[in-house]
Amino acid sequence: MSQTKGRVFSGARPTGRQHLGNYLGAIRNYVAMQDSYECIYCIVDLHALTTLENTGMLREWTYEMALDWLAAGMDPDRGTIIFVQSHVPQVTELHTILSMVTPLGWLTRLPTFKEKVRQQPDNVNYGLVGYPVLMASDIALYKADTVPVGVDQLPHLEFTREIVRRFNAHFGDILIEPQAKHTEFTKVLGTDGQQKMSKSLNNHIEIAATPDEITQRVMGMVTDPARRYRNDPGHPEVCNVYSLHTFFSPGDYERIEHECRSAEIGCVQCKRLFAQHLSDYFAPFRERRAALAENPDHVWDLLTDGARRASAIASETIAQVKDAVGLP
Ligand code: ADP
Repeated sequence: MSQTKGRVFSGARPTGRQHLGNYLGAIRNYVAMQDSYECIYCIVDLHALTTLENTGMLREWTYEMALDWLAAGMDPDRGTIIFVQSHVPQVTELHTILSMVTPLGWLTRLPTFKEKVRQQPDNVNYGLVGYPVLMASDIALYKADTVPVGVDQLPHLEFTREIVRRFNAHFGDILIEPQAKHTEFTKVLGTDGQQKMSKSLNNHIEIAATPDEITQRVMGMVTDPARRYRNDPGHPEVCNVYSLHTFFSPGDYERIEHECRSAEIGCVQCKRLFAQHLSDYFAPFRERRAALAENPDHVWDLLTDGARRASAIASETIAQVKDAVGLP
């Protein structure tokens, strides 16, 4: 990897097949950042263990997610490192060391922790409290200087910066304080038009969906709630389908906006168009994905190779950290 470019790190839990929210909120940016950064992208399976839900699915979901990432253009041939967190165990060493400079109060005050306590009151485990320390460890281990974040992740990144500052203040300038790179399109709504698109709410559209599956999902989407009859004029500015048109129908959305406002097209027609555009947009992606899926071993080999390259960076950092801390 070259020394001159900045280095990006980002991780996401293995959630299996990715949806439009993952695509617009994360994957698309991951792909674009390869133009200007050294990129390290990680499937954070250890983080996924904090909920202890569906652990039997971890392997399959890791594989399906890797397929989506690779087919979408996250590309080891461009120097990008794509790997699975647990394949580079040095992160757990750094996690232990960084936990020693982390005040417990910082962790329990984080809004994301409070939210988790609300979500799983019967499983407020130690790993859950340490989740942001593990995240900081990932970023610090690979000496990333840039982390793409949506607004919801900002407190975690700020936390990482504080931990790094604290470590460096104690032990010398070893770790890099990462900067946030704000990403656009941070919140994609689900097919219900109300809540954030999410697999757990079943309001999602998979990017690997077949054209038929896309049509089925899209035709069930909620549109402008004020437009009750076909001849009522529409309000594209409050319609989730229209907001997605602006991304997936670049040559068509201005006409659609006009024809919606003047009631020349109805919601059904608008959704048919959207399903068509969406299906066309992801057609090359589906082809690449199918080709990759013909050889699962190759996909795992790519991840193993990613882990080997990540491990080389990690070993160097860990050696410096242990030395600085004074471990014999
Ligand atoms: P994680 O908890 O690892 O971030 P998620 O599956 O919730 O796992 O999200 C993975 C990535 O996709 C994150 O960067 C997240 O911000 C993005 N993402 C997920 N859902 C949406 C959505 N509805 N709109 C925009 N971005 C989303």
